[in-house]
Amino acid sequence: MSDCIFCKIIAGDIPADIVYQNDDVLAFRDLNPQAPLHVLVIPKKHIATINDMTATDAELVGKLYLAAQQIARQEGVADDGYRTVMNCNELAGQTVFHMHLHLLAGRAMNWPPG
Ligand code: 5GP
Ligand code: ZN
Repeated sequence: MSDCIFCKIIAGDIPADIVYQNDDVLAFRDLNPQAPLHVLVIPKKHIATINDMTATDAELVGKLYLAAQQIARQEGVADDGYRTVMNCNELAGQTVFHMHLHLLAGRAMNWPPG
């Protein structure tokens, strides 16, 4: 998707602080972090929202969580705990329409979320 900011990061056209990647997944630090650790884990395939997933994407989405698990270990937050969030569409606060899993850690998280 030529007008998608996260596709541009995948292509290397926009710089990002990349913390992890494999054939299917890329993860980089959020530009506007909401916690001491705030990483975005994205599929290299452009999928706009959770609503746009199909059954063939099920394994790919599982890989986002496996990547998050690995990043949490590598960043030393796995045992203390972390939060993963995926916003879908406007009311949830989604602003970038390329599916992404937020990985947040390093502070106590509130529940219910805002
Ligand atoms: P959303 O609100 O869609 O769930 O999350 C989008 C996230 O992407 C926000 O936390 C925002 O700070 C982050 N973001 C937006 N543009 C960029 C960018 O160009 N680079 C990085 N690293 N993060 C971005
Ligand atoms: Zn995209």
